[in-house]
Amino acid sequence: MTHQPTGHTRAVILGGSLAGTLAAAALAPHVAEVLVLERDRTLPETAAPRPRLPQAAHAHMLWSGGADAIEDLLPGTTDRWLGAGAHRIPIPNGMVSYSAAGWYRRWSETHYLIGASRDLIDWGVRTAALAIPNVRVRTGMTVTSLVGDASKVTGVRVRGEGKEGKEESVIDADLVVDTTGRGSKVLEWLAQIGGPVVEETVVDAGVRYASRRYRAPEGAEADWPVIHIQADPREGKPGQVVSIISIEDGQWHVSLSGTRGGEPTADEALFEEFARAVRHPLAAEFLARAEPISDVVVYGRTANRQRRFEKAAMPAGFVVLGDAATSLNPVYGHGMSAAALGAVALRDTAAKTPVNAPEFAAQAQKAVVRPADAAWLLAVGQDRFYPGTIGKAPSLADKLAARYVHRLSRTAIGNFHVVKALTDVMTMKKPASVLGKPGVLFAAARGLRRPLLKGPELTEREQSILDREPLLRGPHEDAGRVGR
Ligand SMILES: Cc1cc2nc3c(=O)[nH]c(=O)nc-3n(C[C@H](O)[C@H](O)[C@H](O)COP(=O)(O)OP(=O)(O)OC[C@H]3O[C@@H](n4cnc5c(N)ncnc54)[C@H](O)[C@@H]3O)c2cc1C
Repeated sequence: MTHQPTGHTRAVILGGSLAGTLAAAALAPHVAEVLVLERDRTLPETAAPRPRLPQAAHAHMLWSGGADAIEDLLPGTTDRWLGAGAHRIPIPNGMVSYSAAGWYRRWSETHYLIGASRDLIDWGVRTAALAIPNVRVRTGMTVTSLVGDASKVTGVRVRGEGKEGKEESVIDADLVVDTTGRGSKVLEWLAQIGGPVVEETVVDAGVRYASRRYRAPEGAEADWPVIHIQADPREGKPGQVVSIISIEDGQWHVSLSGTRGGEPTADEALFEEFARAVRHPLAAEFLARAEPISDVVVYGRTANRQRRFEKAAMPAGFVVLGDAATSLNPVYGHGMSAAALGAVALRDTAAKTPVNAPEFAAQAQKAVVRPADAAWLLAVGQDRFYPGTIGKAPSLADKLAARYVHRLSRTAIGNFHVVKALTDVMTMKKPASVLGKPGVLFAAARGLRRPLLKGPELTEREQSILDREPLLRGPHEDAGRVGR
């Protein structure tokens, strides 16, 4: 049953990024008016960067669980992305992935991911969400506090450009949704209105990113796999990762990352050296045959941070979604999908309970964090094992769970049934509980049924790129050969 809005119900969304625009789409059918408040002065009309989205300079994988959720909320978005040059990359066959357990086989497609820049992903969503007739956005508006008390939030205080320069004003709302991201001031805002103290857990592996765009080599601009060299938390040393993702305009978006003690730097001369020194040099070999076309950009705000609003006595009329509630180490690529699935849960709650009912916010908060909880377990289940990680040390249960996941990853190399279950979870199509199903447990107990691969499975076209001479530059002119 869909609840048609009664009277003039207004939902105010704080932040106009991915979680904010998806929350707007989720609530639009259930309220008279949705107002999105964004502090950036403008939201671009094209897939262009904007100042308050610094992470967009880094490769963003949108798994099919998240992409399908976005399509469900805003039908036609996938076509808009693909029409603008994004790629639909099949999984697992479109991924050349070196996991802690070895090289994955390229089994036939069970899932997919969207290969596009973050700016293109946001543009595709924003264009559709802000075109909904009862959704409005006001840019250049910085939310400074909540209005209300411990029992109910009734609006927000904002600062924006007015006739006399910066002006403060109050905007009333029946429902306020905080989607101001990783830097959200929500805990301070709650304290200011006498709200609850919210339990917060931080697990920080000190991950730093360094990213750069390359022009893909001729012949590798499309239908190109993700190249992903993963870390192995069991090695007892910093985890270093390289990902190459094919995006629009014939480009590769390349991100390096390293946990505390193994971080990449902004030094251009060291970028490919880092890629070469990870657990396998395959990504560096491809990069040696591609042309860098951007500066190296670094980013270090990557801690896993979970705030348990759903367990606190929160004021009515207030929900927190996206990174503001749960921010995740980006290496696992789950933040956008968790936000999208959370927005679907927000919509589904609004379809059952009127948005202005006193119980709505508590029901919605419980529902929106569920997808993020699964992603949280996957991220901290690995990050707790890296040297220097800040946060609770791994318990015996964590160690057993990590051993089970490693055994599954190893079994997955030779077992389609297990790789399907792992990919269901990795792409956020299914909850982590599928890994405990009898068929999966049985397969894990039987272990590897086919031999480990000695090297990456490359197609002739992929190998032909490696067979070319490396482009002349820097100290790697004499790069060696990998693959067949
Ligand atoms: C390096 C890096 C790589 C990543 N890679 C991936 C990936 O591969 N796959 C993936 O799924 N996720 C990835 N993520 C995570 C992803 O970026 C986030 O999960 C996602 O951006 C969350 O969206 P959000 O809308 O909650 O927050 P954000 O996108 O951070 O947006 C917050 C918005 O709120 C606005 N705002 C903030 N404060 C105020 C205020 N006071 N008033 C008004 N507006 C305000 C900001 O201007 C901004 O527009 C990555 C993150 C990082 C850092």
